Amino acid sequence: ANLHMFRLVVLIGLLTFGSLWVLTYLVDQFRAFRFTDIVLVLCFLAVYGFSRLPSMKAPSVLWLYCAFSVYAAVTILSGIFVTQNYVDVMIFVCLFQLPVLTLDRSLRVDLIEVILAAAYLLFVLPHKSPGLASTEVVNVGFFTASALAAGGFLRRTRIANFELERQSVQRETTDYLTGLYNRRKLFEYLGEKEKKGSAEPLAGILMLDIDFFKLYNDSYGHIAGDECLRRIGAYLLSLGQSYPVSFFRYGGEEFLGTSSNFNREELCCFGEKIVDELRGLNIQNEFVERGRVTVSVGLAFSDSPDGRSYEQLISQADSALYEAKRTGRNRAVVWHPGMSTIEQSCR
Ligand code: GH3
Ligand code: MG
Ligand code: MG
Repeated sequence: ANLHMFRLVVLIGLLTFGSLWVLTYLVDQFRAFRFTDIVLVLCFLAVYGFSRLPSMKAPSVLWLYCAFSVYAAVTILSGIFVTQNYVDVMIFVCLFQLPVLTLDRSLRVDLIEVILAAAYLLFVLPHKSPGLASTEVVNVGFFTASALAAGGFLRRTRIANFELERQSVQRETTDYLTGLYNRRKLFEYLGEKEKKGSAEPLAGILMLDIDFFKLYNDSYGHIAGDECLRRIGAYLLSLGQSYPVSFFRYGGEEFLGTSSNFNREELCCFGEKIVDELRGLNIQNEFVERGRVTVSVGLAFSDSPDGRSYEQLISQADSALYEAKRTGRNRAVVWHPGMSTIEQSCR
């Protein structure tokens, strides 16, 4: 929001003062402003130019403050040297806009607003006639106070809107039961990863399916089944916070992990670790041979930067998962060409 506002402020500044500068050549009364106008145009161009330098990685709110400070500084100069005999309108525009347009901590916005207003009065008042000076004090006071009030109100409203928007996006992309990202988010995410020039293209897919979950559900009931899914979801969620893998609920009792950083070996070990640790959760299932809930994992890896179609990787991970189920469950299997004939277990 601040970056957008910064560009808008600079653009409006450039257009306003650029056209006023042209007018100084056409209209006699404007001639006195020629220097101020061109200084403003140059200052805005400089602030904008600096903000675009790759080495200047400051947050956009800082650039917004810079733009307003340039604005205030030049109005102070013009108040001293050019408009001693007029009420200066530009400073009111600047003071009114700063808290209204800037999205930052209230304390900081308000403080900078008050400092700019005080600086203007401090430097400019000695150069104005007593009558004009008292008018300026009243005007600056009025614009500052109303801008602080309006800015505070708008800031609260905008933050509340952002929060609502964030919550609605979160609802849309999160699975209610497990707290993991859902399938919708998965395909959005994979689409981003597949774009050309993606900073971290997809390198590995991990597909996880709970073993004999239908039996678990039928034996312990749907509510216990949900609780089991929740525990597995919580485990994957915490795993995703410690390792560079994002987990999604793919559907039913299937989960999918994506990795951009693991090599083939690491991905394999990671799959093994998940199988072991989930078995280690000791979720009791007395109706299966192992006496507890286990999972099977299918892995697919690609190290070619071109051939990372996620559909292909998902289908390979799916085949590997099928192989893991076929060869006894409670294991991780990595896909390789010839999957249907040769099993290549990670063990
Ligand atoms: P396999 O080891 O081959 O994977 O066997 P399975 O029984 O786990 O596989 P199957 O696909 O036959 O059964 C999946 C079960 O998952 C069926 C369904 O009752 C259950 N399930 C899917 N989604 C949910 C859910 O949100 N809550 C609960 N409680 N159960 C679910
Ligand atoms: Mg399944
Ligand atoms: Mg299953």
